[in-house]
Amino acid sequence: ATFGNLSDRLSETFKNLRKKGSLSASDVDGTVREIRRALLDADVALDVVKEFTGKVRERALSDEVNKALNPAQQVVQIVNDELVAILGGQQRRLEFAKNPPTVIMLAGLQGAGKTTLAGKLAKWLAKDGHTPLLVAADLQRPNAVTQLTVVAEQAGVAIYAPEPGNGVGDPVRVAKDSIAYAKTKQFDTVIVDTAGRLGVDAELMKQASNIRKAIDPDEVLFVIDAMIGQDAVKTAQAFQEGVDFTGVVLSKLDGDARGGAALSVASITGRPIIFASTGEGLDDFEPFHPDRMASRILDLGDILTLIEQAQSAFDEEEALAMAEKFSTETFTLDDFLKQMQQLRNMGSIKKMMGMLPGMGQMKQQLDSFDEREIVRTEAIIQSMTLAERQNSKLLNGSRRLRIARGSGSTVTEVNALVNRFEQAAKMMKTVAKGGVPQIPGMGPI
Ligand code: GDP
Repeated sequence: ATFGNLSDRLSETFKNLRKKGSLSASDVDGTVREIRRALLDADVALDVVKEFTGKVRERALSDEVNKALNPAQQVVQIVNDELVAILGGQQRRLEFAKNPPTVIMLAGLQGAGKTTLAGKLAKWLAKDGHTPLLVAADLQRPNAVTQLTVVAEQAGVAIYAPEPGNGVGDPVRVAKDSIAYAKTKQFDTVIVDTAGRLGVDAELMKQASNIRKAIDPDEVLFVIDAMIGQDAVKTAQAFQEGVDFTGVVLSKLDGDARGGAALSVASITGRPIIFASTGEGLDDFEPFHPDRMASRILDLGDILTLIEQAQSAFDEEEALAMAEKFSTETFTLDDFLKQMQQLRNMGSIKKMMGMLPGMGQMKQQLDSFDEREIVRTEAIIQSMTLAERQNSKLLNGSRRLRIARGSGSTVTEVNALVNRFEQAAKMMKTVAKGGVPQIPGMGPI
């Protein structure tokens, strides 16, 4: 699968790292070198690789890591953060026009997956209550209009196309007329499929650019085949210069691509990836989430399980950092787990509680503290992906089932843990506001 090899390589790198209690500069350099090679082998553009590894190195050598409870895990976290950053950071949603119709133009090379995407997008929009109109402005390829007609039928949406057999036609005219048509017929979104060529050429760019000028789209989505590897950057840049685009769609992420295109394009063009296409079917399509993609690349569920939690003694710095978390209300499942582990590792629960603001009075409650419960909690949280740990709201039914399976527990136990965490998080807010907490997040399951 896409990223399969990259994931394996990174996983191997981190496995070596986990054996270290603390990291020397040469450990960091070695790790960064391996990451660099893995990325280059995955066809990630050199400039992107350089920037990426530079940032990872700088952060891995900083105090952030030196003082961490578990430096190796901290490095994984940094790599994750930086991956999210080169994939665009925050999720970027499709933008709709204030005055409908919202006009979406598709551009890209022939075979990139534009026509298929038009159908996917239309179906997705229709499901969301929109009324999309597909427009066949690809009059280059003999079969394109027919193909879009079939796709529209499958998606159950309307199509605007020149009569078949009506000669070559003028794609700019078709695109322009389609907007007027959409207005009179009350379509709220218009998806304009344009022609692609096998390679970038001037005439193609001119045509796409003319269509863009004629219809002034709200979004221009550049569709790129994730399989094209090193050519991704050149192609993306050519389209950026020739037509420019507001967002990227990565197609064929289900294939055996090495993933370099995905990792390079957002960063090189400064345009966000908005959707990912993952198959030939019209439902094989999803909004793109940089954080989820990063977790997928790092296979974090596995890596973090590999990197055993540090069995280090209680650390005063950590307690202070935790107290800081409470006051900023960014308490996550990871923090919850860390807290539990510290409780176990240090043996002296009361000492830690005494150090945390507002927790002194919990001491008696700790007598009922159960060691086995921590082990269970650990197993469950370690079966979560990083994204899930940072946002417990992601934990829907199917994720909970997966986590239960992964940790050898039941969904009921996972539910109970999430409930307790949410109580604890609520309590942290109370503490942060100077209130008196009730339960230290460790009542009986
Ligand atoms: P266009 O020339 O840009 O309009 O590309 P098409 O939409 O005709 O797609 C070209 C080929 O790629 C078709 O055979 C599609 O079925 C296939 N295709 C499109 N998107 C995907 C995808 O996400 N995954 C896979 N595996 N195939 C895709």
